[in-house]
Amino acid sequence: EFETCGECANRLQYWVEQHKKYTVKGRCAEYIPALRYADPDTLGVCIIGYDGEVIKGGEADIVFTMQSISKVISFMTVCMARGISYALERVDVEPTGDPYNSIMRLELKKPARPFNPMINAGAITVASLLPGSTKEGKFAALLDTLEMLLGRRPIVDENVFVSEKETAHYNFALAHFLRAGGNLECEVEDAIDIYLRQCAIEVTVEDLAKIGLVLACDGFHPLTYKRLLPVELARLTKAVMLTCGMYNASGKFAAFVGAPSKSGVSGGIMTAVPPRRHKATPFHNGCGIGVYSPAIDEAGNSAAGVKLLQHISEEWELSVF
Ligand code: GLU
Repeated sequence: EFETCGECANRLQYWVEQHKKYTVKGRCAEYIPALRYADPDTLGVCIIGYDGEVIKGGEADIVFTMQSISKVISFMTVCMARGISYALERVDVEPTGDPYNSIMRLELKKPARPFNPMINAGAITVASLLPGSTKEGKFAALLDTLEMLLGRRPIVDENVFVSEKETAHYNFALAHFLRAGGNLECEVEDAIDIYLRQCAIEVTVEDLAKIGLVLACDGFHPLTYKRLLPVELARLTKAVMLTCGMYNASGKFAAFVGAPSKSGVSGGIMTAVPPRRHKATPFHNGCGIGVYSPAIDEAGNSAAGVKLLQHISEEWELSVF
């Protein structure tokens, strides 16, 4: 018999307190003020189970920007609107091992096909493929997907968007390169605006857990009994998250946590834990997890967040392997 939900919540809260010390192993991203001035000691987590139980630990009500986690949403939106094969003709699903904003490989082949939708070259391409004839329409399509998954329409932190754009030299360089190679389905400025606006969408750890749960359940919402994503898209997305979702630490994360996840530079991590065979552990029917702790490690992942997820995974056997 596994523990009751209340016991799980107590243990989670205890683990958060234990893992706060790892925040000093990272530093907040410094390229824009909103990220630079985040409180580096913060650690919050939310887990939502298949039966709807919600448990939280630490500072779980903080609002932060999605940053790279939004790449999952734009990719799914394009796949649903244009078809998976159309999307995969324009962006591959192979990990690179290069920095997330690297331009190097775009020169190797023309037209360049970005290696995966979780690196910036892939995400900027995907942003341009969103359905709609204007940047507003394309961005609205992405928000529609989020609204369907969250049950509310999230908002954009305009300050973050504006300061992202002021410092977006690498992203502009990538977008120009992609545009020259014929990869973009809109102009450079519009693709950048959509991409940076999606990075600035505000969420909480509970929002990330909700999306993680739907992915964990292969696109089916276990509480409303609605199918929100096609099963093949949920599987594809989880595979991309597992292989490419944690920057250049994706391999180690797969090895030591073992659940499809996507992180962002603001310190958020979204995790989908599919059902496992081991029936004596909590959440064995699957769950979604959202974590936030803004001090990030050298790979760009939340330092305490990764440690906490590893601990939860070891204790409750979350690994898909
Ligand atoms: N918004 C930043 C960029 O695209 C960071 C995205 C991230 O890695 O979370 O450069």
